[in-house]
Amino acid sequence: MKEILLLSGKGGTGKTTICAALAALWKEPKVLADADVDASNLPLLLAPRPVSRTPFFAGWEPVKEEEKCTGCGLCREKCRFGAIGEDLRINPLDCEGCGVCAWFCPEKALSMREKEVGEIFVSETPYGPLVHAELYPGEENSGKLVVEVKRRARALAEEKGINFILIDGSPGVGCPVIASLSGVSLCLLVAEPTVSGLHDFRRLAALLKHFRIPGYLIVNKADLAPELTEKLLELASIEGFVRLGSVPYDPEVFEALRAGRPLPEVSRGPARKALLGISNRFHKIIFEEENHEDRRSP
Ligand code: SF4
Ligand code: SF4
Repeated sequence: MKEILLLSGKGGTGKTTICAALAALWKEPKVLADADVDASNLPLLLAPRPVSRTPFFAGWEPVKEEEKCTGCGLCREKCRFGAIGEDLRINPLDCEGCGVCAWFCPEKALSMREKEVGEIFVSETPYGPLVHAELYPGEENSGKLVVEVKRRARALAEEKGINFILIDGSPGVGCPVIASLSGVSLCLLVAEPTVSGLHDFRRLAALLKHFRIPGYLIVNKADLAPELTEKLLELASIEGFVRLGSVPYDPEVFEALRAGRPLPEVSRGPARKALLGISNRFHKIIFEEENHEDRRSP
């Protein structure tokens, strides 16, 4: 199974635009996955038709049977997180789901149940089935939800006899990104030529090195700061990345975003042209060269 993960140091670098473009340009059967469960944007560009929607449970929450409660206040006294108010109501935003209140309740009025923190969707798109998810506002466990998105994408691929998964990852280097790295064949980093872009690249390169995952680089909006683009490319060489190429700034990208479609389908501009070249090069590496895993020095 080939799994390609797209990452970027922060949001707004064009990672999802490039992921949607590759999804549209590569005709191989594929399963698509959006591992950015905090802000799932890939579906916005792929015209998904929902097929299934399932709740995602993680952690615990107390439930009270009011008729059993005598108002003794022991639960409030024992709660170390101040989640139970003077009126003995539980504030879900402060509750950590530790279960102490239920343990001590003399009337067994409190019990713990699994907490619904998000939803997972499977959708059909013109480019292949898509697994994506939504973590409810304020909820944690995004890493667990990413793992579940990837597990479902793999199961779907096996069920359909598909051996290629294209994953749009989360921005940054936090828990959801680390969760999304397990089992991937290679990572495509989308970086922009800014000072923070250089910093982000270094952090992601260190992460990939740690997990021994081959790295590939695209510099987006490269013409906006040619000197920083050059620095990014130099860094990429030092870190053993394969430099796939650069994409210029192109206002037509916003037209594609507005239209909710992959860039190659709505534009004839310079970004599309650059992406076509990069896509062909990357496609050749992935589907025609067997040993792409060995391109990175240890
Ligand atoms: S400990 Fe149980 S009975 Fe006492 S106030 Fe809390 S929920 Fe009610
Ligand atoms: S589960 Fe823990 S944090 Fe939540 S209300 Fe009960 S004691 Fe407080």
